[in-house]
Amino acid sequence: MSVICTLFGHRPREDDYSGGEYMRVVPGAVDGINREHATLYATCPRCGVSYRAGQIHLPKRQSEAYLEGSVAALRGRLGE
Ligand SMILES: [Zn+2]
Repeated sequence: MSVICTLFGHRPREDDYSGGEYMRVVPGAVDGINREHATLYATCPRCGVSYRAGQIHLPKRQSEAYLEGSVAALRGRLGE
């Protein structure tokens, strides 16, 4: 890691909108309301170190949401 990054933090990524490097997503735990948490990692363009850039809730795909609704409806019919 460079001295500048040590003193002031990593350099922000500037090319996200131009098709540059994608951040890496590392899935985490699923909480009590069925939200999946994940951590985003980026690579500093100045020193090349991978650093934690933030955390997100992973969005559900439409098919997953539909299937969960169907399973809940079937469980309701079965009285579970
Ligand atoms: Zn850096």
